Amino acid sequence: MSFMTKIEGVPDTDDVRDGMAFFAGTGPYGKTCGDCKFRGYVRTSSKGTYNESRQEFVYRSYRTTKCEMFRRLSGHHGSEVKEEYPACKYFELKEKKKASAVSSQQGNSP
Ligand code: SF4
Repeated sequence: MSFMTKIEGVPDTDDVRDGMAFFAGTGPYGKTCGDCKFRGYVRTSSKGTYNESRQEFVYRSYRTTKCEMFRRLSGHHGSEVKEEYPACKYFELKEKKKASAVSSQQGNSP
């Protein structure tokens, strides 16, 4: 609960969500982080395991559900961002894979 004066249309401390690039709900109406192209990126583990046959350290890569824009702005990895969080002002619509493109790659196109 915020004790600051609420001003209509101005984000408040109640709108802050950990890991988000900006205040929740300042993006397009009805859009969520789940629709945003910045949610989720590939990270490489900081600890590697030594591979004897390759004679080098091998680092695992994994996909996170953190915000890429948060990382760009702050220089740090933020918290996980949930799909249902209301979008922020940096929202950009995630491109969806077209069903026809997928089927043509599989050789199912007419
Ligand atoms: S709307 Fe996009 S840019 Fe904003 S916090 Fe969510 S994932 Fe990040």
